[in-house]
Amino acid sequence: MYDCRGVTNKKASAGLCNQCGRCSTFCPQFLDIPKELKVVKKEFEKPGFNHMMTFFKKVGLPFVTKVSKVIDLFKDF
Ligand code: SF4
Repeated sequence: MYDCRGVTNKKASAGLCNQCGRCSTFCPQFLDIPKELKVVKKEFEKPGFNHMMTFFKKVGLPFVTKVSKVIDLFKDF
């Protein structure tokens, strides 16, 4: 079974970060998470990103789930 984390249940993307900085205080690696999320947003969340994610949730993910179930049926052959 495929695990798609943020695209399955809750809306989750770098663009949702409001730069509050709370996560940085807990990071054991002292990463500047808000800054990195800005980079991720700029790199991956191009115009049309939200439409693409909606399409993936409604069409792509159900398709991948069905295909993975079919593949699982044949895994012992
Ligand atoms: S700065 Fe960190 S805690 Fe705050 S919204 Fe962004 S990711 Fe979440």
